[in-house]
Amino acid sequence: MTFLEHGLYGGAIAYKFNPNLFWFGVAFGVLPDIPPLILATQTAGLRRVAKRILKGGADNFPEYVYKVYDITHSFITTAAIFIILFLITKDSTALAISYGFHIVCDIPFHNSRFSTRFLYPLTNFHIHGYSETKHKWVILAQYPVIILIYVFLLKK
Ligand SMILES: [Zn+2]
Repeated sequence: MTFLEHGLYGGAIAYKFNPNLFWFGVAFGVLPDIPPLILATQTAGLRRVAKRILKGGADNFPEYVYKVYDITHSFITTAAIFIILFLITKDSTALAISYGFHIVCDIPFHNSRFSTRFLYPLTNFHIHGYSETKHKWVILAQYPVIILIYVFLLKK
């Protein structure tokens, strides 16, 4: 799933709770991918990372990139973010749902070393999912769903 789909889902979730949180929801929807993307870009260069994103397969990044990916794609991290947001203001806890939904979406659609270890560091359990880079229908199938969600959200 690309940044666009993650952002649109995150924004929709936040908007449902509070329309003023829409852009924060977009940000929290893409947030799990930002730290590993920055690290991968710093170590491997933008061209190699872009190749990985567009074509898949070029995933020989340093181990710490995968560890950061595992940390940011864990429901344990999501729970920590929920608690922090709850302590700041209860109204913003919807953003943790946007964050967590990113992980839910990644579980079935990532494979190789980027399979989502959603309970890391408790376990490395993961599903060898359908790669969106090899199965483009995964990305294309998102858009009718996203359009329907926004039609219902904005109809109210
Ligand atoms: Zn992700």
